[in-house]
Amino acid sequence: MILDAFNLRGKVAIVTGCGTGLGRGMALGLDEAGADIAGVYNNSEPDCAGEITKMGRRFLPIKANLTDLDQIEPLVEQVVEAFGRVDILINNAGIIRRQPALEFTRENWDEVVNLNLRALFFLAQAAAKRFVAQKSGGKIINIASMLSFQGGLLVPSYTASKSGVMGLTRELACEWAAQNINVNAIAPGYMATENTRALQQDPVRSVDIMKRIPAARWGRPSDLAGAVVFLASEAANYIHGYTLAVDGGWLAR
Ligand code: NAD
Repeated sequence: MILDAFNLRGKVAIVTGCGTGLGRGMALGLDEAGADIAGVYNNSEPDCAGEITKMGRRFLPIKANLTDLDQIEPLVEQVVEAFGRVDILINNAGIIRRQPALEFTRENWDEVVNLNLRALFFLAQAAAKRFVAQKSGGKIINIASMLSFQGGLLVPSYTASKSGVMGLTRELACEWAAQNINVNAIAPGYMATENTRALQQDPVRSVDIMKRIPAARWGRPSDLAGAVVFLASEAANYIHGYTLAVDGGWLAR
């Protein structure tokens, strides 16, 4: 039955940036669909453990700074040690720095690109190695952005990284699809989280943004749950290299 194909019971998902915003929303969606969750965080421990275990799933918090590439393979090993396998990677952790391009600093370039693109690639690689070793296939879902499609303003390293995420999603899909590894991306629109706090608080930009969203509201973390469960499930087995916008119609304008 088709609805069974969406069931994630028995699957193990790694969600980076699990403690906040969109990562938290997606972890809760995957949990509702049946998956056990390894939640990667770099600051305070995620508070979603209670909600996840209440559903009867297991939750493993993992503290890691993903920009330190030496922490990436041990992180995947830790999940395998605890849960015996890995089936799904949600490459969600990401940051943004706002500054005019003429003044943009090397720090603001490196910090963003090192997390949003470099760490995302090496974590995808570590997960894919595990999927190959398990002979199981697997699902990788990268978090892209509207700025994978558009230029944006004052965020050159973010636009470069997120445009890179969409390209890399296609590239990895081409390399790994034959091994039953689905690499896809979700491009959230304007979502009310920490990442967009400066925009939400800017009286001019926030009004401009709202006027352009056909759905007439900012997105919420729970808006990503359906898309992430779908792409992480067997229902999406023949979808490779696609970036799915969940944007209230933003790109349709
Ligand atoms: P957020 O700031 O709440 O989430 C970012 C997460 O990344 C946090 O949990 C943070 O702890 C984690 N993180 C930051 N540096 C890290 C590091 N070095 N190692 C490990 N984890 C680290 O904001 P969010 O909106 O939930 O963002 C999640 C993802 O969604 C990001 O990739 C962001 O670019 C993307 N995104 C957000 C929006 C939006 O409108 N909010 C739109 C498009 C894309």
